[in-house]
Amino acid sequence: MEKTEIASTETRSRNLGTNATGADLYSLVERLYPICRSITGNGVRETLAILKESVPMEIHEVPTGTEVFDWTVPKEWNIRDAYIKDSSGRRVVDFRKSNLHVVNYSVPVRKKMSLRELRPHLHTVPRYPDRIPYRTTYYNRTWGFCMAHAEAEKLRDDTYEVCIDASLEDGHLTYGEFVVPGETREEVLLSSHVCHPSMCNDNLSAVAVMAAVARRLAGRKCRYSYRFLFIPATIGSIAWLSLNLEKTGNIRHGLVGACLGDGGMIHYKRTRNGDAEIDRIVEKVLSDAGAPFQMLDFTPYGYDERQYGSPGFDLPVGCIMRTPHGQFAEYHTSADNLDFVKPDALEDSYRRICEIVETLEVNRIYKNTHPFGEPHLGKRGIYEHVSGPEPTVDEHSVFWVLNLCDGRHSLLDIARRSGFSFKRIQAAAELLHRYGLLTELSGSDV
Ligand code: ZN
Repeated sequence: MEKTEIASTETRSRNLGTNATGADLYSLVERLYPICRSITGNGVRETLAILKESVPMEIHEVPTGTEVFDWTVPKEWNIRDAYIKDSSGRRVVDFRKSNLHVVNYSVPVRKKMSLRELRPHLHTVPRYPDRIPYRTTYYNRTWGFCMAHAEAEKLRDDTYEVCIDASLEDGHLTYGEFVVPGETREEVLLSSHVCHPSMCNDNLSAVAVMAAVARRLAGRKCRYSYRFLFIPATIGSIAWLSLNLEKTGNIRHGLVGACLGDGGMIHYKRTRNGDAEIDRIVEKVLSDAGAPFQMLDFTPYGYDERQYGSPGFDLPVGCIMRTPHGQFAEYHTSADNLDFVKPDALEDSYRRICEIVETLEVNRIYKNTHPFGEPHLGKRGIYEHVSGPEPTVDEHSVFWVLNLCDGRHSLLDIARRSGFSFKRIQAAAELLHRYGLLTELSGSDV
């Protein structure tokens, strides 16, 4: 792939360019963290507007009431303020301090009530008494507050003033889409959800990482076309699939990104089929990287991979995470904050995804043009590259490639079978191709 970087006068854009660092990724997470997002509303718009500074994405608005398969785009939710005041007028719960305090998508409310009436509307996590839980009520028209259990315990019998200054009105569901056109119409889908309020790992980490990958690919000559979606979870991916049916047939590979900023090892959840090219590539890239990782089989829950992998589509989309959702104690609480995500982890996730993309780009099927016996490498000057003062490839890789390039094995297959790194095999193939000993058969998976 050509390493061309788009010229830009925007410093931030350059920072998120070819070599996004952990500090770049972390500062984007930091900037997005305070915004109160939901599946619809201005929080998503504000988030996408920030991403658009570095990724020239298109922002789509799908009207309330739009039928998308078995779902309907809901009314748009926006919130200005919310609190619970005691009889002295003190805010005992204050949305301005944390947007997690309000059950996301709560209907508006303004009432005075006793503690007994208020209790059923309060949510806490007794196990972690200092954390505010994250709760939603997208499709059930109610309201509620979330608070630290320790704070809820302190509430005394009193008359409380309860206010959720929110609106639920006809509006839109907003999502961002960025396409990098490639040499072919075959596509790689890279999707992350943008609907969670102030939580960093789930999922600002993946939003920042995917935006950086998008920036890296922007303007480059790629073999595949790359489609990035920054969408509200579930309803967003269902809406996109429903409104873009004709495009789904071009998707050859895909990754959902989530929880990419914690200190745990990378976990990859395979596609529904379990043996797609993307599954094999991710496993090889992670194994070549040398750090511990874990491969997980597909399950029909989790993130939007379950929509892309629903039986009607069965798209080869896996899910890349560090610690999977629900398996870290900070999950869906106020502890999933700026202390929980680490610049190093963000950068590591970014690098791995870039390597996955690079591998997808160059994984090809070649055919040995001299398959009867070994071709004479010496008379072609190939040994100079293999055993000269600065060898660029190793001899064993050359022989693996020559032997297995029978038109039925991709470079990935050869790397897996030889046990060599993909990069080693690729270097040998490039050399042999340059000397006319390989001819490219197809760019497609076998
Ligand atoms: Zn979540």
